[in-house]
Amino acid sequence: MRDDITYRLPQQRRLVTELPGPRSAELADRRRRAVAGGVGSSVPVYAADADGGVIVDVDGNSLIDLGSGIAVTSVGAADPAVASAVAEQAGHFTHTCFMVTPYEGYVAVAERLNRLTPGVHDKRTVLFNSGAEAVENAVKAARLATGREAVVAFEHAYHGRTNLTMGLTAKAMPYKTGFGPFATGIYRMPMSYPYRDPAGQTGEEAARAVIARINTQIGAASLAAMIIEPIQGEGGFIVPAPGFLPTLAEWAREHGVVFIADEVQTGFARTGDWFACDHEGVVPDMITMAKGIAGGMPLSAVTGRADLLDAVHPGGLGGTYGGNPVSCAAALAALDSMERHRLADRAREIGASIVARLEQVAADTGVIGDIRGRGAMIAAELVHPGTDEPWHELTRAVAAEAQRHGVVVLTCGTYGNVIRLLPPLVIGDDLLADGLNVLAEAIATVAAR
Ligand SMILES: *Cc1c(COP(=O)(O)O)cnc(C)c1O
Repeated sequence: MRDDITYRLPQQRRLVTELPGPRSAELADRRRRAVAGGVGSSVPVYAADADGGVIVDVDGNSLIDLGSGIAVTSVGAADPAVASAVAEQAGHFTHTCFMVTPYEGYVAVAERLNRLTPGVHDKRTVLFNSGAEAVENAVKAARLATGREAVVAFEHAYHGRTNLTMGLTAKAMPYKTGFGPFATGIYRMPMSYPYRDPAGQTGEEAARAVIARINTQIGAASLAAMIIEPIQGEGGFIVPAPGFLPTLAEWAREHGVVFIADEVQTGFARTGDWFACDHEGVVPDMITMAKGIAGGMPLSAVTGRADLLDAVHPGGLGGTYGGNPVSCAAALAALDSMERHRLADRAREIGASIVARLEQVAADTGVIGDIRGRGAMIAAELVHPGTDEPWHELTRAVAAEAQRHGVVVLTCGTYGNVIRLLPPLVIGDDLLADGLNVLAEAIATVAAR
């Protein structure tokens, strides 16, 4: 328990049925007949309640949440400050459309993001609903402002599921296969991936290789933007070697290329700083944000250099729901909670506990090839012992085993062999320790099969 946080639900793992229980099984049956088959779910239980570090299912099982609904509920899924801000705003108006009758919440979120994001230059912000939409619009604005068309994205990148963002995303299955053709003008460059790169390669060397390739394949004068996740999310929590991001950002600045940091997953205290770019002092020209921004309410943002975002003609950016007033109220409350509870510091503590536990498991089992990440965004890459060969089947089995014992664990990675841990930042120490023990047990059990 954390004494500065009050929880509504008991912070404990408690199973009263097998998972999935009968009511979840019943819902799964209804779902099969009603919901499109293309939507997947990682865990076969249906949620009834959630708070702090637990999710309670419709059968009354209390599960430990080590995924935060994919890095979203950093302040918890029922932060009292967010809940009351949402209720208050919904009691007044749920929508007017900022493009019709604007309101203060949108402006206040923009002011707040302009202040929180890296760099002290003059900034502007525009709000949307999803991460993909933020990425789309960052690229739109970068192309218009530069008058150039080419965009560079990286290997292992994930930027969303709309047409342009599928094009930017690296992994075919399940995100792209069968959904083409994709937007043009996208070039893919190698990512710094220290675990799999030649030993001893520095971040700067990896960046120089990218720059050389851009020069031969595109030419800086045709390049509008370079978009990169400072720590890759879906791609496997890949942390580039130190120097990679600063070298690319500096080159981009010299050549008038818009450097876009996609911090949709890494943003808002998750990595132990407000943003992952802060760690190496990288100041992006534009930053895309979503996931953790509003305590679970749908909201996304692009914050960037005023000259870039003000270059777009009035009416060129927007959307019916973008910057919804209820979501804006939630964001302001969630950001307050992050400050009040010092969740960036807490993210570092959580990360240290996770790494310590995973190191033990690595020594005991031999199936963890790499432990990486930053703050409360930590991954274990699972491999066949003594090699760096990805062990996808083991990874799936580990996640299923942990879930069977009441711990929500997510996987990711280009090779599907990465266990990713991103608990709510309000999780208590005992609950986290219990969740990690279950995971450790799951890895040991499944690896011994
Ligand atoms: C999740 C994610 C997106 C897409 O966000 P949606 O809200 O799902 O559209 C884009 N970029 C990154 C880095 C992400 O992790």
